[in-house]
Amino acid sequence: MGLNIKQRKKVEDILKLNNYTDYKWTDPKKIIVSQWVRMKCKFGCGEYGRGGACPPETPAVAECKEFFNEYEDAVILHFEGLMDKPEDRHTWSARINNKLVQLERAVFTAGFERAFQLFMDSCSFCKDCTGSRETCEKPRMARPAPEAMAVDVYTTVRQAGFTINVLTDYDQKMDRFAFLMVH
Ligand code: SF4
Repeated sequence: MGLNIKQRKKVEDILKLNNYTDYKWTDPKKIIVSQWVRMKCKFGCGEYGRGGACPPETPAVAECKEFFNEYEDAVILHFEGLMDKPEDRHTWSARINNKLVQLERAVFTAGFERAFQLFMDSCSFCKDCTGSRETCEKPRMARPAPEAMAVDVYTTVRQAGFTINVLTDYDQKMDRFAFLMVH
């Protein structure tokens, strides 16, 4: 069973307190998990095998699907970013992801024991990622991005009412999405 109105309000108060206003609730059963997303990680992404919170460190696609099916309520958080230079993205992502870990903690300590945060970008906490969970510099803080959990972010966020487009250059505005699995 999903959260009742009072429980949702409790989470929304935490979001407000942490200055998150651009978000939407979603039914985790509607989060689309696809093999093509993992294929794009394996072939085409330079972080495959080099990120401690990226595939192949994340579960297999079928297990990712099972993970989302265990939840009844989640929040999709939207972040907009416009970079002067491509290198700025790392610092920008690290700052936001750091706050997202704190958000997960706040929701967890409010009594939502399943609270689990999926970052809005790859982990980015370290300048050079060690590339594995075993050697991760911040194992308590690192979380996967939705894409690392094989989420088709484009279709999922569009059906939730957000706008997202394929970008062709770094100087275009980025729309990034984090998923807070609540209950
Ligand atoms: S905390 Fe550092 S080592 Fe661990 S996954 Fe993130 S960037 Fe990689």
